[in-house]
Amino acid sequence: MAAEVTMDKLVSLCKRRGFVFQSSEIYGGLSSAWDYGPLGVELKNNIQKFWWREMTQLHDNIVGLDAAIMMHPKTWEASGHVENFSDPLVDCKECKSRFRADHIDLAKPCPTCGNSGTFTEPRDFNLMFSTHLGPTKDSGSVVYLRPETAQGIFVNFKNVVQSSRVKIPFGIAQVGKAFRNEIVTKNFIFRTCEFEQMEMQFFVKPGSDDEWFEYWKKERISYYEKMGINPEKLRFKQHGPDELAHYAKAAFDIEFLFPMGWQELEGIHSRTDFDLGRHQEYSGKEQTYLDDSDNSRYVPYVIETSAGLTRSVLMVLSDAYDEETLADGEVRNVLRFHPKVAPVTVGIMPLVKKDGLPEIAKDIQKELMEDYAVFYDQSGAIGRRYRRMDEIGTPFCVTVDYDTKEDKAVTLRYRDSMEQVRVPIAELSARIRSEIKNYTRTRS
Ligand SMILES: [Zn+2]
Repeated sequence: MAAEVTMDKLVSLCKRRGFVFQSSEIYGGLSSAWDYGPLGVELKNNIQKFWWREMTQLHDNIVGLDAAIMMHPKTWEASGHVENFSDPLVDCKECKSRFRADHIDLAKPCPTCGNSGTFTEPRDFNLMFSTHLGPTKDSGSVVYLRPETAQGIFVNFKNVVQSSRVKIPFGIAQVGKAFRNEIVTKNFIFRTCEFEQMEMQFFVKPGSDDEWFEYWKKERISYYEKMGINPEKLRFKQHGPDELAHYAKAAFDIEFLFPMGWQELEGIHSRTDFDLGRHQEYSGKEQTYLDDSDNSRYVPYVIETSAGLTRSVLMVLSDAYDEETLADGEVRNVLRFHPKVAPVTVGIMPLVKKDGLPEIAKDIQKELMEDYAVFYDQSGAIGRRYRRMDEIGTPFCVTVDYDTKEDKAVTLRYRDSMEQVRVPIAELSARIRSEIKNYTRTRS
C-alpha cells in the first residue's frame, strides 16, 4: 500500500533537504512567498527544461520567446485585465479582516472576530500589482507586473511572423514570472502571488480551432505521462459556460490529485481571435495574417496551453513521494523522480575513504559531471548514504569498492528497485544514458 502524502510531510521534507524555504524566514517570513533551495532550483529548472524541450524541440512548428515582465499599460486595457481581472472583497469593520465575498456567507458572523453585521459592501479589487515607471508617481507612469505571460506573446505576434518564417499553424512558447495580488494564498507553493508560467499560444486558421483544441488536449496530457506522473492522478475538467474567462470559447483544465485534493495544474483554452483582435483595435496596428495556401487574410484564432511551473514542482514532489517498508521492517523515504527532472542524477561514493578508493571515485565524478548532475559522498556507512540519495530522489548510485581496483568495474545501484549490478567503468556513462532514456516508473 502506498504511503499517504500529506502537505505537512512535503513541506517538512522540502525544508529539511533544501528544496523550498519560506521567503525571508529570519524576519518571520513573508506570507505565501517561497524560495527554492539548492535542490529545489535544480528540480524547477529541470521541469522547465522538460517542458521547453517538449514544446519547442519536439514540435517543429513552435518557436520560443522571452518577453519583459513590464509592458505598455495599454496592453492590459486591451486584454481586458484592467476592466475584468478582479475579485469581490469585503472587509470586517470591527477587526479589519478581508475576505473574498464569494468565499464566505455574508449573512453569517465574521469568521475572525465573530461579530455580526460588520461587513462592508463588496468592492471589486483588481488582482494586478501596479507600480510607477520613472521618477514621478502620476497616473501617466503606472505600469503593471504582468498577471500572465500570454500578452507578451500576443503583442509580438507580428514580430515573430515577420522575422522567423513561421507559417500558420504555429505556436510561440514562453516561460516566465507572473504576479497576482491574491487575497487567499495557501497550500504551500500551490497558490502564491508571484509564480511562474509555462505558456504556449498556438495560432490557427479560424474554423480549424476546434480540431487543434482537441489535438492540444491530447498532447498536453501525454506530456505528464511522459514525465512519469501517475495517470490515475490526472484528469480533465471542463469549464461550464458560467466559468469561462472573458476571452474563452472553450476551456479544459488538467487537474492533478494534490495532497489537498483535485486542483488545476494547466489550462487549455480556445481564445478565438479575442486577443489579437483587441490588440489590433487598441494599438491601431493590424494583426492579420496572409495565408499563402489560399491567399486569404485573417486574424488568427488561438489555442492556449498554460501550465504552472511552480505548481508543477509541487505536483512532481507529491507524485514522487513514497515511504517504502522494507523486508527488515525499516521504512525508507524515497522520491521517485523521473531521472530527467531529478535534481541529482548520479550519486558517486567510494565504499571507504581510504586505500585509493576516493581517488578512483573522484575520477569517475570528473568524467560523469560533463553529462550528468552528480553528487560525491564519502562520509558515513554506505547504507545511510544510499538512504540520503533515495530521500532526495537520486535515481542512480555508483559505488567504488576494493574489487574496482582489479576488475575496473563499479556497482550501479537503482533507486526504485534497490537492485545492484556490476558495470565496467568504461561503459558507465553510456549505461546511465540508456537507463534514463528507457526509464519507466514503478509504483509500490
Ligand atoms: Zn471581524
